Amino acid sequence: LYAAILALALLAVGFTVDRFQGRLERAATHDQLTGALNRLAFSAVAEQALKSSRRSGEPLSAIIMDADDFKRVNDGYGHPEGDKVLVTAVRAALDSLRESDLFCRWGGEEFLFLLPGCDTQEALAVAQKVRQAIAQATARSCRVGISMSGGIACLAEGEDIDALVRRADDELLKAKRLGRDRVLCAADPSAAHSPL
Ligand code: GH3
Ligand code: MG
Ligand code: MG
Repeated sequence: LYAAILALALLAVGFTVDRFQGRLERAATHDQLTGALNRLAFSAVAEQALKSSRRSGEPLSAIIMDADDFKRVNDGYGHPEGDKVLVTAVRAALDSLRESDLFCRWGGEEFLFLLPGCDTQEALAVAQKVRQAIAQATARSCRVGISMSGGIACLAEGEDIDALVRRADDELLKAKRLGRDRVLCAADPSAAHSPL
């Protein structure tokens, strides 16, 4: 009988440890508020996507998106409502993506997408779909709807993820400067050097 009780106790302990470990792993790799992948975990999968794009020659595009005037959401409706807007936006974004697309919460109200197999034009279509989904979902289920600005870049030869994201980020900054609620695409850097 003691052996049976001991076995059961050990099983229970093992089960608890497993569950705790699972929760720790999730906390280390996902954003607590939205459940999106965090930046650290994203970096690891992004490296894999980079390698596989280099191997296959398939395009790889990055979209960086930032919520417009988000400070005003918090100021006008309170931080908890701001949180709700972010959760709603993430759900809408995930619903518009494919299984193979990578998505993470890059910063506070900033999100990064990596789209294997998508060139600039295909990434642009995805970005517009996501922007529309976020605008509609937040307007429908929150006290205020938000728009998103974005920047897109497609992986160039010899480029790493940091450089790719930097080029997308430059476009995001331009989109903000031009008045927000829009997405801009980086030109292919190799095109600038090719003869006419
Ligand atoms: P812009 O269009 O130029 O991006 O303006 P903005 O107001 O969105 O940009 P700014 O960087 O001035 O403000 C971002 C705001 O996002 C400030 C910060 O408090 C808020 N924010 C970041 N993370 C969270 C979060 O997890 N929850 C809430 N409620 N707000 C957040
Ligand atoms: Mg913002
Ligand atoms: Mg921001």
